[in-house]
Amino acid sequence: MQLTLWYSALLLGVLLLAAGVFFVAFRVLLEVQVDAALHARASQIARSLVDVGGQPELRANGQLYALSHLAALPRLDKTSTLDGGPLTRILNAQGQTLYSSPAFARVALPAASTRQPLAGSAWEDSVHIRAFSFVHVYSVPLRASGQVYGVLQVGQGLDFVTSTVGISAIILLALTPVLLLLSGAGGYWLTSRGLAPIRRLTAAAQRVRAGDLRERVPVPPADDEVRELALTFNEMLAQLEATFTAQRRFIADASHDLRTPVAAMLSLAENARDGVQTDPRAALEDIAAHARRLRQLLTNLLALARADEGQTRQDAEPVRLDTLAEDVVASLQPLAEDRALTLRTGPLDEATVNGDLPQLLLVVMNLVDNALTYTPTGGTVTVSVRREDAAAVLLSVRDTGIGIASSDLPHIFERFYRADAARHRSTGGSGLGLAIVQTLAEAHGGEVTVQSTPGNGSTFTVHLPLASTR
Ligand code: ADP
Repeated sequence: MQLTLWYSALLLGVLLLAAGVFFVAFRVLLEVQVDAALHARASQIARSLVDVGGQPELRANGQLYALSHLAALPRLDKTSTLDGGPLTRILNAQGQTLYSSPAFARVALPAASTRQPLAGSAWEDSVHIRAFSFVHVYSVPLRASGQVYGVLQVGQGLDFVTSTVGISAIILLALTPVLLLLSGAGGYWLTSRGLAPIRRLTAAAQRVRAGDLRERVPVPPADDEVRELALTFNEMLAQLEATFTAQRRFIADASHDLRTPVAAMLSLAENARDGVQTDPRAALEDIAAHARRLRQLLTNLLALARADEGQTRQDAEPVRLDTLAEDVVASLQPLAEDRALTLRTGPLDEATVNGDLPQLLLVVMNLVDNALTYTPTGGTVTVSVRREDAAAVLLSVRDTGIGIASSDLPHIFERFYRADAARHRSTGGSGLGLAIVQTLAEAHGGEVTVQSTPGNGSTFTVHLPLASTR
């Protein structure tokens, strides 16, 4: 409706402007034609007049007629009327009227209309006779051998010009509402046609809101803005659906992983209370082990949630990656010794990245912890830091462990994913470690890659951007 009103207002403006230009041009054109006709008539009459001793006289059919003796000049202005017909007046050199067509009597001409031609130059103007009524008068000197011997005045009523222009204006005025109505109706129709796909889209979107996220809006075939909107909308729905599905699975997995240790602790406690378990100390130790696992799981979940929220960059500070690698190796040395594994640092290039120290520490810890977990006794885990180029650094954790089957490789970074080989071991992992590594690496503008040969070992590499040296 609003669009239609705007269209109509615009059209009205354009119409008014066009009409104004049209009327001015129309009027000027008509007047130019009146002028031309008057000039032609004046020279035609002047050719029939002769100078007879300082008095103009008419020559017709080879005879001379004294103008003052003629009551009328039938041949000159038989149809003389003020409004439409020709107006003619002839004066002598003294400015006395010798002949005047009757209608001319009603026209009061200014003195200049006689004085100026007598002085030798033509006079021309529109003379007002009554409301909306004008006569255009052309007044020329009559000359014979350079001498002015009289004045010829011809005139033409302009009423027909006024009425022609007036009638056109009335027609246009009468047409305007009709035109506006027609264009308004057309505009309204076009607008609703143009908006119909949007309305359909809205209806579809409302169904989606009411139902589930699997619903998609119809994509129109025409390659236009509406199609783009529908495609974008569907893309957004797909992303939302994926996010919600992942979220749901994550919650299901997390609850499962939280339930298991809690259930185990509960039954251990109940057994101890009921005396089924004879050694309460052993029961308490088991409960403590489960609680530790729970705490680890909750720490991981918290780390993931924080990383998801994108809190990393706020606490960014320069972190020496080589020193960090050394620290991790040192702190996990006892664990490696427990498992009879060699944990060592490889080549360590000096490298500084911008990031959050605890989070980067968690990344390296998780990788080394995995390497130690999935490497059998006697194996070696090596941590090294290499500057790739001026902008990037690679931190890699290489082990000589069990490796990862190629069918598992695409999934190991998923939350709660554990390869079968790992699941059967009593390592106590939750399948969140690598997900955290990946999320945190990405939060730092980097990525994690893995190379692995089953039975031979794996190498996890974290690519991170170097802190700019400015
Ligand atoms: P988890 O808590 O099970 O260690 P992660 O997310 O850290 O969870 O790892 C996911 C899975 O990837 C593990 O269950 C394991 O199967 C595999 N994996 C991770 N690191 C290694 C490694 N260094 N060697 C072999 N397999 C690994």
